[in-house]
Amino acid sequence: MNQEVRFRLKHVIIFLSIIGFLFFYSLSSNRDCESEQSSRSNGDGADAWEAGQGRDAFLPNRRGPTIYAVTPTYSRPVQKAELTRLSHVIRLVPNVFWVIVEDASQTSSLVTNLLRRNGLQDRSVQLFAKTPTNFKLKGKDPNWLKPRGVEQRNEALRWIRNRLKHDSLGDGGTEQSHSIVYFMDDDNTYSTELFEEISKIERGKVGVWPVGLVGGLMVEKPVLNRDGLVLGFNSAWKPERPFPLDMAGFAISSDLLLENPQAQFSYEVERGYQESEILRHLTIAHDMQPLANQCKDVLVWHTRTETPKLDAEKTLQKSGKISNDGMEV
Ligand code: UDP
Ligand code: MN
Repeated sequence: MNQEVRFRLKHVIIFLSIIGFLFFYSLSSNRDCESEQSSRSNGDGADAWEAGQGRDAFLPNRRGPTIYAVTPTYSRPVQKAELTRLSHVIRLVPNVFWVIVEDASQTSSLVTNLLRRNGLQDRSVQLFAKTPTNFKLKGKDPNWLKPRGVEQRNEALRWIRNRLKHDSLGDGGTEQSHSIVYFMDDDNTYSTELFEEISKIERGKVGVWPVGLVGGLMVEKPVLNRDGLVLGFNSAWKPERPFPLDMAGFAISSDLLLENPQAQFSYEVERGYQESEILRHLTIAHDMQPLANQCKDVLVWHTRTETPKLDAEKTLQKSGKISNDGMEV
């Protein structure tokens, strides 16, 4: 009997020792994990996310050079949805000044309301410039038939150049404060991290980076040489263009725009040549400033929004009604 008790006691002790061992083992391996993690994030790795900047990039609150984000926009059923998406990105990036240019003969209350509701009145301007009728796309026209945004982007350039000249006069003609111009269409998808990159553009430089889902490729990007200089682009569509890249893939230090007043967009150029048209006055590929982790990160996507099918709405209209009576959609 006594022997049996001793035998059981032995089992209990062995069992408890195993539990104890497992418990301490799990504690120590957890600590290893934590220290590994912290040493990784303190390391001097090139990855911005690991350096702890990643999370900040989603909620940037630092000041940087003013980025004039130029957005041409036109009235259509999805306009408010597109601009809402965009305005929320802009709200998160304090050094963006939003230049909205409506393709219309006057500004609209839809855009005015949107700016007001987002608290963006003080860092935006609402302009208008109507595309001449002969250059305007009609109902079933494919969107590539005519250039889009030419009139509006040129109006924005005129406004920005004026403002910059005015600013430097106000300073008694002293050195121009550094700012950047970015053409930000209303239907693309932008990460706030992109604006951290744009803020790095130096005076006299045009910054470049990859754009996702454009030109028939998953990504269109600058190709760099071993020294990190832009050699060319990987574009598949019209690669013979002087600058075969998308409007969303570059931004310009504004001093270049003042030094080259002739640089603008044009109706006279072949399809796909708008980017080359403005850039040819400002830079050569080799002088461009590669951003977004040596052009390895995609921070903007050339998304396109499907036109909604509003057949039922049309039927309703025939009987003199609309579903959004008195509502802004
Ligand atoms: N746009 C415009 N008027 C138009 C068509 C387009 O102001 O008649 C604007 C549009 O809102 C966008 C930019 O021009 O900000 C580029 O147009 P879109 O996105 O249709 O062109 P894509 O993406 O095919 O280059
Ligand atoms: Mn688009």
